Amino acid sequence: MTVLVTGGAGYIGSHMCLALLEQGEDVVVLDNLSTGLRELVPSECVFVKGCVGDEHVVRGILARHDIDAVIHFAGATVVPESVERPFFYYRNNTAATRNFLETVSDHGVGRVVFSSTAAVYGTPESGTVAETAPTAPASPYGRSKLMTEWMLEDGARAGAFRYVALRYFNVAGADPEGRTGQSTPRATHLIKLACQAALGRVPHLGIFGTDYPTPDGTGVRDYIHVSDLVVAHLLALRHLRRGGESGVFNCGYGTGYSVREIVAAVERAADCRLAVREMPRRPGDLASVVADPGRLKARLGWTPRFDDIDAIVGSALAWERGLALDGTVLSPLVGRPRTPALQINYPT
Ligand code: UDP
Repeated sequence: MTVLVTGGAGYIGSHMCLALLEQGEDVVVLDNLSTGLRELVPSECVFVKGCVGDEHVVRGILARHDIDAVIHFAGATVVPESVERPFFYYRNNTAATRNFLETVSDHGVGRVVFSSTAAVYGTPESGTVAETAPTAPASPYGRSKLMTEWMLEDGARAGAFRYVALRYFNVAGADPEGRTGQSTPRATHLIKLACQAALGRVPHLGIFGTDYPTPDGTGVRDYIHVSDLVVAHLLALRHLRRGGESGVFNCGYGTGYSVREIVAAVERAADCRLAVREMPRRPGDLASVVADPGRLKARLGWTPRFDDIDAIVGSALAWERGLALDGTVLSPLVGRPRTPALQINYPT
């Protein structure tokens, strides 16, 4: 049996591929390389370049591989971009996933693991947020993902498949063995940008908003190491294969760090002072978003291994050091030679 990983050339997807291969799974990657990088797809995977919304491509894969589960990462993920380009987010995330889910369920694929987001919650009332909290997304990105959760719920109710939607909090860090990491061109995420600032690759780090109702006035987030996150996916897959029920699960540690605390962690890791510039709030941003991860621990048996902000930042910085100035992945620095995965172009 084979797992289809959409977005497997991306940041989280490429970590997922490595983890699946380590478990002895066969992996097919579907990625349109709009933000992903072909060289991040492990050479043991079959790589198909294409869009998840393209039913011909998806059918081609399903006809040729014995896919028993899909892990669906592909999508656009930048909150402020979604505020500026809502229709792109609804097409690329929601509409494309609608096509994808219909195609895989028509083919009888009965297990779906989906990358959802804490952005479905909107403004949390206080403290940590559990899965039972009301959903009220504040951005088109969050709405595009919540609509997908609704499609999953309806599909499961109709008997099309069973699913696990994982609501990611802030994913950061890189593979501890240095095989892959955050390499998305023009990434906007705090820890990556702070590492770039520490390495002198951007002139300074902007702090977006210093007047939030948080202890130091800057935004608070729950940063989860990407390696712990991919383990949550492995557990979700095992749960579904064992006949477990559909559900949504938060993926975070339950600890919040402010932007200034992240700056301090990067300064510790890089042993330098960061040039920071205080800026206005960013559209769509919330003051504080911290997970209650109790359900993931209790029901899927998840035990985090990298719940340590210095470990997260240290691995992110190590990966960033191994990138060229233009963001290219440099072969000698990634732990093993980068032989691209076999690319198959299915006739459509
Ligand atoms: N942030 C910042 N400067 C940056 C990027 C992000 O101050 O260059 C802040 C952002 O306002 C938020 C936190 O860092 O409070 C995390 O933002 P990120 O874009 O990493 O993830 P998001 O929470 O938006 O998914």
